[in-house]
Amino acid sequence: MDRCLWLVIAPYVYIVCSRRSAEYLLYNTVDGSRIQGDDVRILDFLLSSPQYAARMDERQLEVYSPFVTELKEKHMGDVIESSADGFFAGTYPIKNLQGDFKRYADKLDYLSGSHLVQYLHELTVYVNHSCTNSCACCSAYYKQHVHCLSNGFTGRLDVNVVLQRLHEASHPCLRQINILGGDIGMNADWKYLSDGLCDLGVVVNHIVHISQRRHLPDELFRDRRWTILIDMHGWDEENAAYDVNAENIHYDFWVHNEEDCRRADELANKFGLHSWSITPYYDSKNYDFFKNNVFIDENDVFLRTHTFRDFYRNATLNSHYFGKLTIMADGQIYADVTKPALGNISEHTLAEVIWKELESGHSWLRTRSRQKPCKDCVLHDFCPPTSGIESAMRKNDLCFRSKR
Ligand code: SF4
Repeated sequence: MDRCLWLVIAPYVYIVCSRRSAEYLLYNTVDGSRIQGDDVRILDFLLSSPQYAARMDERQLEVYSPFVTELKEKHMGDVIESSADGFFAGTYPIKNLQGDFKRYADKLDYLSGSHLVQYLHELTVYVNHSCTNSCACCSAYYKQHVHCLSNGFTGRLDVNVVLQRLHEASHPCLRQINILGGDIGMNADWKYLSDGLCDLGVVVNHIVHISQRRHLPDELFRDRRWTILIDMHGWDEENAAYDVNAENIHYDFWVHNEEDCRRADELANKFGLHSWSITPYYDSKNYDFFKNNVFIDENDVFLRTHTFRDFYRNATLNSHYFGKLTIMADGQIYADVTKPALGNISEHTLAEVIWKELESGHSWLRTRSRQKPCKDCVLHDFCPPTSGIESAMRKNDLCFRSKR
């Protein structure tokens, strides 16, 4: 009598198959080992066995023998035997989002707010868009990272409306509010806004270009948190004399090439900066710098052991954008400043804006599995989410697989 064989894959193995790129990847979430390949017979077999167990006959066992051996060696599965009329009952992982907002789409009390505002964890507020500098990069860089912006708009944000919106509901998960502008020193209301937020129990971070630092009184820098943006091309050593050891002040050098990185390191050491970072900006002339230093390397992808939690998060939402909103000085609210506004702070509650983004937006839920070419790549749930850099470079595969 024929043996009845079952190929069983362990429930802690994450399986990704792509018909389009003709690849499969089995990843052991316990120790990070993996089996990756492009054998079409195995790909077909995996695609036809979505529940982690599949019947196989003696001929298949022979054909798949190297794969089965590797599966056993890496503790990712086994072949077991049952009687001819037997069956195999096993377990396999499924994504189950208990709090999935789609379940509540028709529930008015859900839409009214208290559930929705808990998604908000970072808010960026521009109090103005005026500045006397004329940085060449100004109109492009705020799309890549949180960055000051002067755009010709001469109005000022009504900070009372922002305070009212933030105080009309509790925001249990709100962790940080960034206050910036063109030059926030040109709108004295920033301080009123900053003081009005102190009872929310969140970190309030103020962001200025280094040239604007000297126009602000020293006492404002003693007990608030600041990020000072440093343009390497406009570096003036006189500017660096401020606050270098203060724990509440972070210096962020924006860099375009290797020389900028080297100089940032030199300056940080020379002035003994307590807290500093470098942030790469794409300026359309530094593609090679990004390719050599910023693109995802295969070793980066597998540097740590990924968990099912990581995969399900990456398959569900974009963790770069999710939970973040930006209010511009004209009151317009964005989940991503490169996409259309979701509403205006003078007309819409934060809950209404959040619902609009969840229901029809293009940022919080913009996963790699929905974007070309990543959706056809077996690594789409491993890679970090797309951000403003991908938008600026107009390509999502900033990685070792990129053909350009
Ligand atoms: S960035 Fe996209 S194409 Fe590149 S490895 Fe990640 S998922 Fe694949």
